[in-house]
Amino acid sequence: MNASAVGTPVPVINPATAAVITTVSSATEAEVDAAIEAAAAAFGRWRAVAPADRARLLRRFADVVDAHGEELAQLEVANAGHVVSNARWEAGNVRDVLEYYAAAPERHSGRQIPVAGGVDLTFFEPLGVVGIIVPWNFPMVIAGWGFAPALAAGNTVVLKPAELTPLSALRLGELALEAGIPAGVFQVISGKGSVVGWRFVTHPAVRKVCFTGSTDVGKRIMAGCAEQVKRVTLELGGKSANIVFSDADIEQAAARAPYGVFDNAGQDCCARSRILVERGAYDRFMELFEPAVAGVVVGDPTDAATEMGPLITEAHRQEVAAFVPDGAPIALRGSTPGGPGFWFPPTVLAPVAPTDRAATEEIFGPVVVVVPFDTEQGAIRIANDSQYGLSGSIWTRDVGRAIRVARAVDTGNLSVNSHSSVRYSTPFGGFKQSGMGRELGPDALDAFSDVKNVFISTEE
Ligand code: NAD
Repeated sequence: MNASAVGTPVPVINPATAAVITTVSSATEAEVDAAIEAAAAAFGRWRAVAPADRARLLRRFADVVDAHGEELAQLEVANAGHVVSNARWEAGNVRDVLEYYAAAPERHSGRQIPVAGGVDLTFFEPLGVVGIIVPWNFPMVIAGWGFAPALAAGNTVVLKPAELTPLSALRLGELALEAGIPAGVFQVISGKGSVVGWRFVTHPAVRKVCFTGSTDVGKRIMAGCAEQVKRVTLELGGKSANIVFSDADIEQAAARAPYGVFDNAGQDCCARSRILVERGAYDRFMELFEPAVAGVVVGDPTDAATEMGPLITEAHRQEVAAFVPDGAPIALRGSTPGGPGFWFPPTVLAPVAPTDRAATEEIFGPVVVVVPFDTEQGAIRIANDSQYGLSGSIWTRDVGRAIRVARAVDTGNLSVNSHSSVRYSTPFGGFKQSGMGRELGPDALDAFSDVKNVFISTEE
């Protein structure tokens, strides 16, 4: 390869210390093309692997990930600032997602449809090369949600981690080879979105792009993919509501609310960054919310007791801080350890006008607004008054209301008396400008396949 085709080294930073961990080569377009061509060459062989053998290879990949779980978790702690308890869960999630989809090659069956004059069969055919583009906030799990079902459905994969957080994904690429996944079937290429990611959009051999990231870039990816009628799945931003009715267990709702928004320092597309509280319970909620916010343990991500780490970069810290200018209505505030690293304290803003940008824009940091409401219809209206629709929570003891409100809120993932969003066995994805398509769960395989219909005549 000539010198201009070799990528430049980019420093990788630990956001908790601001120290350089290592450097990683940022791929050139020539390197991306070579990887895509290798993936295209491997596709024919991979789709032909017998279902039970493909399943066995994916189970072996899961076992190797499991054996390296602590190493992967530590990479996520060092490179993304994730607290170690979360990072261990995330390494386990990659293993679980691989195990879950390892069952798929032997079960992803088509249909036999009654027709006159013959037999009609449908087949799920793999698409070919799938390009997966991953953001920096959950580098390892979001990679797994893409590559596990894509590989199970018989596709080959080229995956681009975010430039800021390539380490865990690059290691997963090595572990795949160690597990016996054939060369070319799953490749990880680090580099710029505008070079590597965009080449997934423009290269004709890539037949699907699976993108997780900001809504702005997602729109550009979708428009670019239209050029080749390329399949696309988009998992984008959010501004989710946590709706607390006065009939709820207010102690629980207040105690758990910080973890619905400050987890991963708020750098979570599912963050419940708007808390809507029924006016009759507002004062009691705020009284209980104060010690809960103060109690969030912010600090060294390597400490098992830490609950919230740093933001990803100094530039992002400044973007988050801009939502809390001098004179902002800070109702409650937690702590940070100070020192090097990109720290921002858990921050609660109230009262906030519904039109304030803190109430409408995705902040992607540990900042939440609290807004009172008067009626069930009012809560639904405020929750739905957003371009986004990814997630949300409803706190109530009234089961009828829980179901009514869950059906009325326009988002893809809701939890009642809980803040859980993601299980590998259930579908995940957004309404409105939060995305298109679903990941995880039994249906994710369909997003990595095309349906073929075959009619066989039985006429003499
Ligand atoms: P981003 O859009 O800046 O980048 C995401 C990825 O796209 C990165 O790998 C980046 O290199 C790449 N990229 C950037 N420009 C590109 C281009 N022109 N062509 C191709 N690829 C390009 O987002 P981010 O800042 O890394 O992540 C934060 C955003 O991701 C937030 O908006 C968050 O809500 C969203 N997110 C959504 C989900 C979800 O499942 N809905 C999950 C996590 C994060």
